[in-house]
Amino acid sequence: MILALVTHDDAVIEETAFQALTMARQLAAELGADFRAVWVGDAPDIERIGVYGATTLHHVTHDALDDYAPQAWGKALAQLVSSLSPKAVVAIGSDRGNEVMAHVGAFLEEPMVANVRDVTPGPEAWEMTRTRWGGSLIEKATLEAGVKLLTLTEHALEATPADSPVDLSVEAFTPDLGEADLIAKVTDRVTTSEGITLATAPVVVSGGRGVGSAEGFESLEQLAGLLGGVVGCSRVVTNNGWRPHSDQVGQTGTVVAPDLYIACGISGATQHIAGCKGAKKILAINSDVEAPILMSADYAVIGDLTEIVPAITEELRKARVG
Ligand code: FAD
Repeated sequence: MILALVTHDDAVIEETAFQALTMARQLAAELGADFRAVWVGDAPDIERIGVYGATTLHHVTHDALDDYAPQAWGKALAQLVSSLSPKAVVAIGSDRGNEVMAHVGAFLEEPMVANVRDVTPGPEAWEMTRTRWGGSLIEKATLEAGVKLLTLTEHALEATPADSPVDLSVEAFTPDLGEADLIAKVTDRVTTSEGITLATAPVVVSGGRGVGSAEGFESLEQLAGLLGGVVGCSRVVTNNGWRPHSDQVGQTGTVVAPDLYIACGISGATQHIAGCKGAKKILAINSDVEAPILMSADYAVIGDLTEIVPAITEELRKARVG
C-alpha cells in the first residue's frame, strides 16, 4: 500500500497536493500496490480526491483536529501508518507537507526525505533524486527504511487524474492525541488578500530592489491588473518593508509556476530563481545586461523599468481599446 497525505488549509486543498497524489498513484502502479489517501480534520473534499484514483480515503477525525496543528497531524498520521503498515507515505513538499512529514518521521523514528523529484523503488532500498539548496543542487539519495516517508518537490511533476474513475470508500480513523500535541495550532485567520493568489495566478509581475520604493510598485500593480495577474517581489523588497512577506517569491517565500513571470529589477539570485523557475515563460526587465536573471529568462528587455513597465501597460491598453 502507498499512502498519500492530502494537505489542506481549512478544508481547501493545496493545489500542489494533487501532484503528490499523482506520484503516489504512479508508485503504487509500479509496485502493484493499493493506493490510498489520508485526510486529517473536518470536511474532506472527497470529490476532488476521488479523481486521482485512490481506492480508500482514511479520514482522521478528532475533536482536537478542528484546525491545523502540525504535531497533532504528524502523530495522527504516524498512528495510522503503524496500523496500516504502508510501503510509503507521500506528501507534497510544501511548508505544510514537509512540516507534518517531519513529525511523522520523528514519531516513527524513521528517516524522512524532503523535496524528492523522482523515485526508483527497489526490493529494499529506494533510489531517488531530491532538490537541495533551493534547486541549485540535485542530490542522488538512497533510502533504506521500514516505511518510506517522502515529500515531492512542488511542480516536479504535473498533477494528472487517473485514467478511469475509482469509487473512493471512506474509512474513519480516530487517533490518540493529548494536550501536548496541540502546542502549535492555528487559532485565528486574517484575510490579507482576496481573489487569485500568488501561488495560483496565471501571471506574476514581480519587483525587486530596482523598483526603488513601495510606491514604485504602483506601475507593477497596473500591469498585473491588466494581465489578470498578481504582484510578487524579491526578498530585498520584503526586507525593506515595501511589500508584505506573503508577496515574496523564492526559497523562503512562495514557489510559483505561472504561465508568465515578469521579473522587474530583480537580479536573479539562486534563492529567487528557486521560487519562479517553474514558470512557463520568464520575461526579465533589467537595466543590467549582465544580470544573472537573463540566464533564466526566455525574453528580456534591457532598460529602466520605470519607463518600460508603463510603456507595456500603455500598449496593452491601446491594443484592448483597439
Ligand atoms: P538585487 O540583487 O540588488 O538586484 C536588483 C536588480 O535590479 C539588479 O539586477 C539591477 O540591475 C536591477 N535594477 C536596478 N535599477 C533598475 C531599474 N531602474 N530598471 C531595471 N532594473 C533595475 N531572495 C528572494 O528573492 N527570495 C527568497 O525567497 C530568498 N531567500 C533567501 C534565503 C537565504 C537563506 C538567503 C541567504 C537569501 C535569500 N534571498 C531570497 C536573497 C537573495 O540572495 C538576493 O539577495 C535577493 O533575491 C536580491 O533581490 P533583488 O534581485 O531584488 O536585488
